[in-house]
Amino acid sequence: MKTVLITGASTGIGEACALWLQDKGYRVFAGVRKDSDAESLREKSKGRLTPVLLDVVDEVSIREAAQFILTQTPQLDGLVNNAGIAVAGPLEFLPLEELRRVLEVNVIGQVAVTQAFLPLLRPAKGRVVLMSSISGRVAAPMMGPYAASKFALEAIGDALRRELKPWAIEVSILEPGNIQTPIWSKGVAWGEELKARLSPEATRFYGRAIEGILNYIRGQEGRGLHPDEVARVVEQALSATRPKTRYLIGRDAKAGALLARFLPDQWVDRFIAGRRFGQQ
Ligand code: NDP
Repeated sequence: MKTVLITGASTGIGEACALWLQDKGYRVFAGVRKDSDAESLREKSKGRLTPVLLDVVDEVSIREAAQFILTQTPQLDGLVNNAGIAVAGPLEFLPLEELRRVLEVNVIGQVAVTQAFLPLLRPAKGRVVLMSSISGRVAAPMMGPYAASKFALEAIGDALRRELKPWAIEVSILEPGNIQTPIWSKGVAWGEELKARLSPEATRFYGRAIEGILNYIRGQEGRGLHPDEVARVVEQALSATRPKTRYLIGRDAKAGALLARFLPDQWVDRFIAGRRFGQQ
Protein backbone atom coordinates (compact mmCIF):
# COMPACT_ATOMS: atom_id res chain seq x y z
CA MET A 1 0.00 0.00 0.00
CA LYS A 2 1.36 3.45 -0.95
CA THR A 3 1.77 5.98 1.81
CA VAL A 4 1.28 9.74 1.55
CA LEU A 5 1.37 12.73 3.88
CA ILE A 6 -0.80 15.76 3.09
CA THR A 7 -0.39 19.03 4.97
CA GLY A 8 -3.33 21.35 5.66
CA ALA A 9 -5.94 18.60 5.45
CA SER A 10 -8.54 20.14 7.79
CA THR A 11 -10.59 21.73 4.98
CA GLY A 12 -10.71 22.46 1.25
CA ILE A 13 -8.19 20.96 -1.14
CA GLY A 14 -6.16 19.17 1.55
CA GLU A 15 -9.20 17.43 2.98
CA ALA A 16 -10.41 16.49 -0.51
CA CYS A 17 -6.96 15.04 -1.35
CA ALA A 18 -6.86 13.06 1.89
CA LEU A 19 -10.28 11.47 1.32
CA TRP A 20 -9.70 10.97 -2.40
CA LEU A 21 -6.34 9.23 -1.98
CA GLN A 22 -7.65 7.11 0.84
CA ASP A 23 -10.49 5.96 -1.46
CA LYS A 24 -7.87 5.09 -4.08
CA GLY A 25 -6.11 2.77 -1.66
CA TYR A 26 -3.38 4.99 -0.26
CA ARG A 27 -2.45 4.94 3.38
CA VAL A 28 -3.00 8.62 4.18
CA PHE A 29 -1.40 10.68 6.94
CA ALA A 30 -3.43 13.87 7.09
CA GLY A 31 -1.81 16.93 8.66
CA VAL A 32 -4.11 19.06 10.80
CA ARG A 33 -3.56 21.61 13.55
CA LYS A 34 -6.47 20.93 15.85
CA ASP A 35 -7.67 17.81 17.67
CA SER A 36 -11.22 18.62 16.58
CA ASP A 37 -10.13 18.54 12.90
CA ALA A 38 -8.35 15.22 13.50
CA GLU A 39 -11.56 13.84 14.99
CA SER A 40 -13.70 15.12 12.14
CA LEU A 41 -11.36 13.56 9.55
CA ARG A 42 -11.40 10.26 11.41
CA GLU A 43 -15.20 10.30 11.25
CA LYS A 44 -15.37 11.31 7.58
CA SER A 45 -12.91 8.57 6.62
CA LYS A 46 -14.61 6.02 8.89
CA GLY A 47 -11.37 5.66 10.80
CA ARG A 48 -9.33 4.71 7.76
CA LEU A 49 -6.97 7.65 7.48
CA THR A 50 -4.49 8.74 10.13
CA PRO A 51 -4.62 12.39 11.22
CA VAL A 52 -1.30 13.85 12.35
CA LEU A 53 -0.91 17.10 14.28
CA LEU A 54 1.28 19.24 12.04
CA ASP A 55 1.77 22.98 12.02
CA VAL A 56 4.11 23.84 9.17
CA VAL A 57 5.54 26.90 10.93
CA ASP A 58 6.33 25.06 14.15
CA GLU A 59 9.60 23.12 14.04
CA VAL A 60 8.74 21.03 17.10
CA SER A 61 5.40 20.08 15.57
CA ILE A 62 7.11 19.06 12.30
CA ARG A 63 9.72 16.99 14.15
CA GLU A 64 7.10 15.24 16.26
CA ALA A 65 4.98 14.51 13.18
CA ALA A 66 8.01 12.99 11.43
CA GLN A 67 8.84 10.88 14.49
CA PHE A 68 5.24 9.68 14.72
CA ILE A 69 5.04 8.76 11.03
CA LEU A 70 8.34 6.89 11.33
CA THR A 71 6.73 4.69 13.99
CA GLN A 72 3.99 3.87 11.46
CA THR A 73 5.94 3.36 8.27
CA PRO A 74 9.63 3.14 7.28
CA GLN A 75 9.08 5.18 4.13
CA LEU A 76 6.73 7.57 2.36
CA ASP A 77 5.66 7.42 -1.29
CA GLY A 78 4.33 10.97 -1.42
CA LEU A 79 4.35 14.32 0.32
CA VAL A 80 1.67 16.82 -0.66
CA ASN A 81 2.69 20.27 0.58
CA ASN A 82 -0.75 21.82 0.50
CA ALA A 83 -1.08 23.97 3.64
CA GLY A 84 -1.44 27.62 2.77
CA ILE A 85 -3.02 30.93 3.62
CA ALA A 86 -4.14 33.91 1.54
CA VAL A 87 -2.97 37.39 2.48
CA ALA A 88 -3.89 40.31 0.25
CA GLY A 89 -3.63 44.08 0.37
CA PRO A 90 -1.77 47.06 -1.08
CA LEU A 91 1.98 46.54 -0.76
CA GLU A 92 2.51 50.22 0.05
CA PHE A 93 0.65 49.91 3.34
CA LEU A 94 0.69 46.20 4.08
CA PRO A 95 1.83 45.55 7.66
CA LEU A 96 5.17 43.82 7.12
CA GLU A 97 4.37 41.15 9.69
CA GLU A 98 1.57 40.05 7.34
CA LEU A 99 4.04 39.66 4.48
CA ARG A 100 6.33 37.66 6.76
CA ARG A 101 3.41 35.52 7.90
CA VAL A 102 2.33 34.50 4.41
CA LEU A 103 5.92 33.76 3.36
CA GLU A 104 6.47 31.79 6.56
CA VAL A 105 3.46 29.52 5.97
CA ASN A 106 3.41 29.28 2.18
CA VAL A 107 7.16 29.10 1.52
CA ILE A 108 9.36 28.41 4.56
CA GLY A 109 6.78 25.98 5.97
CA GLN A 110 6.78 23.96 2.74
CA VAL A 111 10.56 23.74 2.75
CA ALA A 112 10.70 22.84 6.45
CA VAL A 113 8.23 19.99 5.98
CA THR A 114 10.01 18.78 2.84
CA GLN A 115 13.37 18.77 4.68
CA ALA A 116 11.88 16.76 7.53
CA PHE A 117 10.30 14.12 5.29
CA LEU A 118 12.90 13.66 2.56
CA PRO A 119 14.67 10.95 4.59
CA LEU A 120 11.41 8.95 4.42
CA LEU A 121 10.79 9.76 0.76
CA ARG A 122 14.30 8.85 -0.48
CA PRO A 123 14.17 5.07 0.10
CA ALA A 124 10.78 4.89 -1.66
CA LYS A 125 11.78 7.20 -4.54
CA GLY A 126 8.78 9.11 -3.31
CA ARG A 127 7.19 12.17 -4.87
CA VAL A 128 6.80 15.76 -3.71
CA VAL A 129 3.76 17.81 -4.74
CA LEU A 130 3.76 21.56 -4.10
CA MET A 131 0.43 23.39 -4.05
CA SER A 132 1.17 26.62 -5.87
CA SER A 133 -1.50 28.59 -7.72
CA ILE A 134 -2.06 30.54 -10.90
CA SER A 135 -0.97 33.38 -8.59
CA GLY A 136 2.48 31.79 -8.91
CA ARG A 137 2.48 33.02 -12.51
CA VAL A 138 0.33 36.15 -12.51
CA ALA A 139 0.51 38.74 -9.72
CA ALA A 140 -2.78 40.62 -9.61
CA PRO A 141 -3.03 43.97 -7.84
CA MET A 142 -3.82 43.65 -4.12
CA MET A 143 -2.70 40.02 -4.33
CA GLY A 144 1.00 40.87 -4.02
CA PRO A 145 1.69 39.08 -0.72
CA TYR A 146 -0.02 35.85 -1.75
CA ALA A 147 1.45 35.96 -5.28
CA ALA A 148 4.95 36.60 -3.87
CA SER A 149 4.64 33.46 -1.77
CA LYS A 150 3.47 31.38 -4.73
CA PHE A 151 6.12 32.78 -7.12
CA ALA A 152 8.69 31.80 -4.48
CA LEU A 153 7.17 28.34 -4.20
CA GLU A 154 7.50 27.92 -7.98
CA ALA A 155 11.24 28.63 -7.70
CA ILE A 156 11.56 26.24 -4.77
CA GLY A 157 9.80 23.59 -6.85
CA ASP A 158 12.11 24.07 -9.85
CA ALA A 159 15.28 23.98 -7.75
CA LEU A 160 14.10 21.03 -5.67
CA ARG A 161 13.17 19.01 -8.77
CA ARG A 162 16.63 19.57 -10.22
CA GLU A 163 18.39 18.83 -6.93
CA LEU A 164 16.46 15.62 -6.27
CA LYS A 165 16.98 14.12 -9.75
CA PRO A 166 19.89 11.89 -8.59
CA TRP A 167 17.49 10.04 -6.27
CA ALA A 168 14.63 9.88 -8.79
CA ILE A 169 12.41 11.87 -6.45
CA GLU A 170 9.96 13.67 -8.73
CA VAL A 171 8.62 17.11 -7.83
CA SER A 172 5.40 18.49 -9.32
CA ILE A 173 4.04 21.99 -8.95
CA LEU A 174 0.24 22.31 -9.03
CA GLU A 175 -1.28 25.57 -10.22
CA PRO A 176 -5.02 25.66 -9.60
CA GLY A 177 -7.27 28.53 -10.58
CA ASN A 178 -10.39 29.20 -8.55
CA ILE A 179 -11.37 26.22 -6.40
CA GLN A 180 -14.38 26.24 -4.07
CA THR A 181 -12.88 26.14 -0.60
CA PRO A 182 -13.08 28.14 2.63
CA ILE A 183 -9.97 30.11 1.57
CA TRP A 184 -12.27 32.67 -0.11
CA SER A 185 -14.46 33.41 2.92
CA LYS A 186 -11.35 33.48 5.11
CA GLY A 187 -9.87 35.99 2.64
CA VAL A 188 -12.90 38.28 2.90
CA ALA A 189 -12.87 38.13 6.71
CA TRP A 190 -9.17 38.91 6.73
CA GLY A 191 -9.61 41.75 4.19
CA GLU A 192 -12.33 43.36 6.33
CA GLU A 193 -9.96 43.22 9.29
CA LEU A 194 -7.14 44.78 7.27
CA LYS A 195 -9.45 47.56 6.07
CA ALA A 196 -10.21 48.45 9.66
CA ARG A 197 -6.48 48.61 10.48
CA LEU A 198 -5.50 50.87 7.58
CA SER A 199 -4.66 54.54 8.11
CA PRO A 200 -7.01 57.19 6.67
CA GLU A 201 -4.32 57.94 4.07
CA ALA A 202 -4.13 54.30 2.99
CA THR A 203 -7.91 54.15 2.82
CA ARG A 204 -7.97 57.31 0.70
CA PHE A 205 -5.45 55.86 -1.77
CA TYR A 206 -6.52 52.23 -1.86
CA GLY A 207 -10.03 52.03 -0.35
CA ARG A 208 -11.72 51.52 -3.71
CA ALA A 209 -9.19 48.95 -4.87
CA ILE A 210 -9.56 46.97 -1.64
CA GLU A 211 -13.33 47.07 -1.93
CA GLY A 212 -12.91 45.91 -5.54
CA ILE A 213 -10.85 42.86 -4.58
CA LEU A 214 -13.19 42.01 -1.71
CA ASN A 215 -16.17 42.17 -4.07
CA TYR A 216 -14.29 40.03 -6.56
CA ILE A 217 -13.53 37.46 -3.85
CA ARG A 218 -17.14 37.53 -2.62
CA GLY A 219 -18.19 36.91 -6.22
CA GLN A 220 -15.91 33.85 -6.35
CA GLU A 221 -17.53 32.17 -3.36
CA GLY A 222 -19.54 29.19 -4.52
CA ARG A 223 -17.94 29.36 -7.99
CA GLY A 224 -14.87 27.58 -9.24
CA LEU A 225 -14.03 23.92 -9.42
CA HIS A 226 -14.76 21.33 -6.76
CA PRO A 227 -11.63 20.50 -4.73
CA ASP A 228 -11.90 16.89 -5.95
CA GLU A 229 -10.67 18.20 -9.33
CA VAL A 230 -7.40 19.10 -7.62
CA ALA A 231 -7.33 15.80 -5.73
CA ARG A 232 -7.61 13.96 -9.05
CA VAL A 233 -4.55 15.81 -10.35
CA VAL A 234 -2.63 15.18 -7.13
CA GLU A 235 -3.26 11.49 -7.65
CA GLN A 236 -1.90 11.78 -11.22
CA ALA A 237 1.21 13.58 -9.98
CA LEU A 238 1.77 10.84 -7.41
CA SER A 239 1.15 7.89 -9.71
CA ALA A 240 1.98 8.80 -13.35
CA THR A 241 5.02 7.02 -14.76
CA ARG A 242 6.33 10.39 -15.88
CA PRO A 243 4.67 13.07 -13.78
CA LYS A 244 4.53 16.59 -15.21
CA THR A 245 6.65 19.29 -13.66
CA ARG A 246 3.59 21.59 -13.62
CA TYR A 247 -0.14 20.98 -13.70
CA LEU A 248 -2.47 23.90 -14.47
CA ILE A 249 -5.93 23.17 -13.05
CA GLY A 250 -9.04 24.89 -14.42
CA ARG A 251 -9.78 27.00 -17.47
CA ASP A 252 -9.06 30.24 -15.59
CA ALA A 253 -5.60 28.97 -14.63
CA LYS A 254 -4.85 27.89 -18.21
CA ALA A 255 -6.00 31.25 -19.60
CA GLY A 256 -3.95 33.14 -16.98
CA ALA A 257 -0.84 31.13 -17.80
CA LEU A 258 -1.23 31.82 -21.53
CA LEU A 259 -1.67 35.52 -20.83
CA ALA A 260 1.41 35.70 -18.64
CA ARG A 261 3.54 33.71 -21.04
CA PHE A 262 2.75 35.27 -24.38
CA LEU A 263 1.54 38.84 -23.84
CA PRO A 264 3.79 41.79 -23.11
CA ASP A 265 3.54 42.97 -19.49
CA GLN A 266 1.77 46.20 -20.44
CA TRP A 267 -0.98 44.26 -22.20
CA VAL A 268 -1.44 42.04 -19.17
CA ASP A 269 -1.56 45.17 -16.99
CA ARG A 270 -4.30 46.62 -19.16
CA PHE A 271 -6.21 43.35 -19.18
CA ILE A 272 -6.16 43.14 -15.40
CA ALA A 273 -6.62 46.82 -14.53
CA GLY A 274 -10.12 47.75 -13.55
CA ARG A 275 -11.72 44.74 -15.21
CA ARG A 276 -11.75 42.52 -12.17
CA PHE A 277 -10.50 44.49 -9.26
CA GLY A 278 -11.95 47.99 -9.68
CA GLN A 279 -8.53 49.53 -9.17
CA GLN A 280 -8.17 53.21 -8.70
P1 NDP B 1 -8.34 26.21 3.00
O1 NDP B 1 -8.32 27.49 3.74
O2 NDP B 1 -9.58 25.42 2.93
O3 NDP B 1 -7.20 25.23 3.52
C1 NDP B 1 -5.96 25.68 3.96
C2 NDP B 1 -5.36 24.59 4.83
O4 NDP B 1 -4.05 25.01 5.22
C3 NDP B 1 -6.17 24.35 6.10
O5 NDP B 1 -6.16 22.97 6.39
C4 NDP B 1 -5.36 25.10 7.15
O6 NDP B 1 -5.46 24.57 8.45
C5 NDP B 1 -3.96 24.83 6.61
N1 NDP B 1 -2.97 25.70 7.24
C6 NDP B 1 -2.93 27.04 7.31
N2 NDP B 1 -1.85 27.43 8.03
C7 NDP B 1 -1.21 26.29 8.42
C8 NDP B 1 -0.06 26.01 9.18
N3 NDP B 1 0.68 26.99 9.73
N4 NDP B 1 0.31 24.73 9.37
C9 NDP B 1 -0.43 23.72 8.85
N5 NDP B 1 -1.54 23.90 8.14
C10 NDP B 1 -1.93 25.18 7.93
O7 NDP B 1 -7.84 26.61 1.54
P2 NDP B 1 -7.57 25.76 0.22
O8 NDP B 1 -7.94 24.35 0.39
O9 NDP B 1 -8.16 26.55 -0.89
O10 NDP B 1 -6.00 25.91 0.11
C11 NDP B 1 -5.10 24.83 0.05
C12 NDP B 1 -3.92 25.22 -0.81
O11 NDP B 1 -4.38 25.43 -2.14
C13 NDP B 1 -3.24 26.53 -0.40
O12 NDP B 1 -1.84 26.38 -0.50
C14 NDP B 1 -3.76 27.53 -1.41
O13 NDP B 1 -2.86 28.59 -1.61
C15 NDP B 1 -3.88 26.65 -2.64
N6 NDP B 1 -4.75 27.17 -3.69
C16 NDP B 1 -6.09 27.36 -3.46
C17 NDP B 1 -6.90 27.85 -4.46
C18 NDP B 1 -8.37 28.09 -4.30
O14 NDP B 1 -9.01 28.71 -5.17
N7 NDP B 1 -9.00 27.63 -3.23
C19 NDP B 1 -6.35 28.17 -5.80
C20 NDP B 1 -4.93 27.94 -5.90
C21 NDP B 1 -4.18 27.44 -4.89
P3 NDP B 1 -6.35 25.26 9.61
O15 NDP B 1 -7.76 24.87 9.32
O16 NDP B 1 -5.81 24.69 10.87
O17 NDP B 1 -6.14 26.74 9.50
